[in-house]
Amino acid sequence: MALLLMIEDEPGLRLTLTDRLTAEGFTVESRADGLSGLAAARQAGYDLILLDVMLPGMDGFTICQTLREEGVDTPVLMLTARGQVDDRVAGLKIGADDYLPKPFHTPELLARIEALLRRAKKEPLAENLRIGDIEIDARAAVVRRDGQEVALSAKEYQLLRFLAQRRGEVVSRDILLKEVWGYNATPNTRTVDVHMTWLRQKMEKDPSAPVHLVTVRGMGYRFDG
Ligand code: CA
Repeated sequence: MALLLMIEDEPGLRLTLTDRLTAEGFTVESRADGLSGLAAARQAGYDLILLDVMLPGMDGFTICQTLREEGVDTPVLMLTARGQVDDRVAGLKIGADDYLPKPFHTPELLARIEALLRRAKKEPLAENLRIGDIEIDARAAVVRRDGQEVALSAKEYQLLRFLAQRRGEVVSRDILLKEVWGYNATPNTRTVDVHMTWLRQKMEKDPSAPVHLVTVRGMGYRFDG
């Protein structure tokens, strides 16, 4: 089972999360300040780092940036009381893999941990996908529904392919923004929702009752089929 490193200075949260994550089968080690957290995070063997932003000694952004500069590529999920878009963007730009504002619900934290752990396995992605009535030919960048070619914009295609390759997995809007848009455009999770609406209109028989491109309330999107 996965080994998690939690860097969190709030004793109550550290205890609660450790108990809950241990109950889910994870092994959890924790550090309560930035410097000992960074020292631990440099060690090999952790599958994921849960990283608070406001920490004594060294803040979470600096820790994450330092790790990435040193070539440590352990997935980092940032946890923070600060929920501003600027902080989220800053966290993802310096190499965090996902960002979860406090307060959060434990099921959402668990889903994000599991999604990051699956991503980190770096499984080879299929070139061609056929899921129900949808066919994605990745070499030709062609999508068909019921055998008919569907004209998609580049972003719609990338969004569809990214989700379809992770069939059954909840993908957060933040991850979609990072992986599909790459923050070249103005980062805004609303962008993801708008493209999803367009994509459903093209790919779903009934866009108001999608069977493939499913909204997971409060968490993101999932490709079913
Ligand atoms: Ca803190």
